[in-house]
Amino acid sequence: MVCQNEELETLDREGLRALQLFQFKRAVTNALRTPFYSERLRSVGITSSEDLKSLADIEKIPFTTKDDLRDAYPTGMLSCSMDDVVRMHASSGTTGDPTVIYLNQKDLDNWTDMTVRSLMAVGCHRGDVFQNMMTYGLFTGGIGLHYGAEKLGMLVIPASSGNTARQYKLMKDFGTTVVHATPSYMLHMYGKMSDYGYKPSDFKLKRALIGAEPHAEEIRQKIEELWGIDAYNSYGLSEMNGPSVAFECQEKAGMHLWEDSYYMEVIDRDSFLPVEDGTEGELVLTILIRTATPILRYRTKDLTSVIPGKCACGRSSRRINRITGRTDDMMIINGVNVFPSQIEEVIMKMPEMGNNYRILLRKKGTLDQLIIQTEVSEGLFSDDTRKMNALVSRLRDDLRASITIAPQIELHEPGVLPVQEGKAIRVVDER
Ligand code: AMP
Ligand code: ZN
Repeated sequence: MVCQNEELETLDREGLRALQLFQFKRAVTNALRTPFYSERLRSVGITSSEDLKSLADIEKIPFTTKDDLRDAYPTGMLSCSMDDVVRMHASSGTTGDPTVIYLNQKDLDNWTDMTVRSLMAVGCHRGDVFQNMMTYGLFTGGIGLHYGAEKLGMLVIPASSGNTARQYKLMKDFGTTVVHATPSYMLHMYGKMSDYGYKPSDFKLKRALIGAEPHAEEIRQKIEELWGIDAYNSYGLSEMNGPSVAFECQEKAGMHLWEDSYYMEVIDRDSFLPVEDGTEGELVLTILIRTATPILRYRTKDLTSVIPGKCACGRSSRRINRITGRTDDMMIINGVNVFPSQIEEVIMKMPEMGNNYRILLRKKGTLDQLIIQTEVSEGLFSDDTRKMNALVSRLRDDLRASITIAPQIELHEPGVLPVQEGKAIRVVDER
């Protein structure tokens, strides 16, 4: 196995747990230096890291939420002097104050090492040309993989997102072999290729690292088939630094959550108690490799499950399943709970459907109305209403079978529905 740190990556479970306890204690010591945690931890009787005798004691620590981070804006979670901070990131979210994360130089180095590890896990190496099509800026998606990619020795093209014409040109002129993008952008780029005068054989692309938004396995497969490449799932969130919290390896059998750097729990959505491996729940994370902004037991709102058993690659960090949705993206439609991922899965299973879709929610009288707008595959859109109606009713039936609701379906030509530069906005709730 070619990897960044074989000893750490293959550490046995016992060794890993001992390391985690040591690191967790250090995180608590740091946390006690912040105004927020000093109050929060003392309120439950934790005044020093010595109060954690075992990993089980972690459950005494209250969860941290996004609202806590907002309330602590701008420096309530800072554990060191601002003079030691070399980078900040902020996530705007959709409401209220942003959340801020600070990093000192050592924190940045640790994060960089994690990104080197993640890139190596999917087979990236010196000599690769890495076109980073994630947004650079306060958002961590772009800059997050940048330093690791350089450290690994790849030629890094910091293209950032958008400007599709330039993306193709960079890819062609510099022989890009690896791209980092949202899955929706990968599909968009494929769909528009011929409009810009390019064809797949113009590119040397081998791999895509796709993340930042939920996507079904069918989307990964579609990207792989259309582009003729390998696509790997990459998970991260700004509160936990950004990309490289969890990454697939070449087995493509779930994402290794780097447990020497993050302490992971999966909890039941209602009782908040831990669930068994294999059972879906909300992912709760503690960052063990950052001093400037320690965050303990952060409720990510992301839904996933731990995959039982060891990965064939030999790495010992446990794997999580792809994120199926967020506890807060659940839609309630006339009382029925529906996750956007359920709808996506049905659409993507139909080869006649294209690469982009939208879920619209409207009020009709007192009732909720679910409208699915989806593009059909290239060359399939026609004026033959019988053909189109047959497609509509098949999609409606399949959706009804999956989500128990029969939505209104609107079919569109490829390239008609709006595309975002960053994360795809799939749900438009006009209720
Ligand atoms: P941000 O903090 O703005 O980077 O957003 C982080 C959020 O994006 C996560 O909490 C997830 O909801 C989502 N996300 C990131 N990567 C993935 C992924 N690979 N699959 C699904 N959702 C993801
Ligand atoms: Zn693996």
